[in-house]
Amino acid sequence: MDQHDERRGRELVDWIDAHLGVRCARCSLELCAHELLFATALGFRREPLCSRCAASETGASDLGTLRAHLRGHFERRACYRFAWKHADELEPRCALREVPAGGPPARAGTLRAELPHETWDAGELGCGELVLDLRLRMRALGAGEILELIARDPGAPEDLPAWCRMTGHELVDARPPRFLLRRRSD
Ligand SMILES: [Zn+2]
Ligand SMILES: [Zn+2]
Repeated sequence: MDQHDERRGRELVDWIDAHLGVRCARCSLELCAHELLFATALGFRREPLCSRCAASETGASDLGTLRAHLRGHFERRACYRFAWKHADELEPRCALREVPAGGPPARAGTLRAELPHETWDAGELGCGELVLDLRLRMRALGAGEILELIARDPGAPEDLPAWCRMTGHELVDARPPRFLLRRRSD
């Protein structure tokens, strides 16, 4: 694990520790440490949702598929892998420990000429912070509109395709640090 991943991993762990016991913003179920990490990766940090409510909110996949995608994403990212292990240690009997990793490997979008409706320079924002803001910005767009995103976090080329797959938005083009994302039609 390089220095960057280690710092990100510790940030994730600190965030989990600070939010243990938080309840789902929709159904008030208490989120476990694993679900706190799910919520982070999906961009639900500010209004944490349990994985069941997150699956219905994103509308992109059923609960089992969403969990498998998230686990697959975590396996490929050292910072999330580190934080997931921490959640396992906190909750040795949690059922989510056993969620198998699945989903296709992350892939960059294919090139297409698209004109963005909005541009956002996210600078070095990473992991949960990037997708948190990104979710709000995508929500503010109209269906089918394009966001041009500049993201310099070294994890972004891995995080963004995974996030798009899980939330139903389309990654139209990926040439780091520039990404084009199309808002899903609800
Ligand atoms: Zn819920
Ligand atoms: Zn758990």
